[in-house]
Amino acid sequence: MRKKVIAGNWKMYKTQAEASEFLQKFLHSLEETPDDREIVLCVPFTDLGILSKSLHGSRVQLGAQNVHWEEQGAYTGEISGPMLTEIGVRYVIIGHSERRQYFNETDETVNLRLKAAQLYGLTPILCVGESKQQRDALETESLIISQLAKGLVDVDQNNLIIAYEPIWAIGTGDTCESIEANRVIGLIRSQLTNANVPIQYGGSVKANNIDEIMAQPEIDGALVGGASLEPDSFARIVNYQ
Ligand code: PGA
Repeated sequence: MRKKVIAGNWKMYKTQAEASEFLQKFLHSLEETPDDREIVLCVPFTDLGILSKSLHGSRVQLGAQNVHWEEQGAYTGEISGPMLTEIGVRYVIIGHSERRQYFNETDETVNLRLKAAQLYGLTPILCVGESKQQRDALETESLIISQLAKGLVDVDQNNLIIAYEPIWAIGTGDTCESIEANRVIGLIRSQLTNANVPIQYGGSVKANNIDEIMAQPEIDGALVGGASLEPDSFARIVNYQ
């Protein structure tokens, strides 16, 4: 049985005060949540400390949105694995398309970050996915195979989550058809040596499409941006049928 993982990606949203307000409402909604799923909140670095305290004893795990590959050093503006694990962070998103697009993240730096995350005891969530242009040019499969081949060199597949996030579906309300997401995720699985790696879908996941997405046999969870910012909608998503 592959683990089911629903992760929220807050991106650059929520001050500490806003994060605390969210949690007060959200944690109440988890009383009936089935045990078969892991719930993760990947939040801005500045929210990690306060959430680590508030989430203590709850079933929600804490995640970051990036990690540097060195343990420490002269890397102004960066955060290392030990800094994250010290405050209770368990997961980290790596290679999100926004980082690839706006911050020069490449498959090579993604690979360095993945290995460092694992070395320091974090579970990485590796994001892969094609742009609209690449999809239209029928390059989806070759691009994803290449992102996986380069990103996963020397990466331990026993401590890994992958998120398939078609870029054209992120923040657009334009969800990938669940059957198509299931197909691409099956392709991703065929490239892995460990058949038990959980593979999520991400891109305009909402309260009204999560049940259909999770009903697909290859899809093991969701990486949720916009809809994770509002406690009621994220609660509905983690309580999918
Ligand atoms: P979205 O973002 O749910 O707002 O489309 C998903 C993501 O970027 O991880």
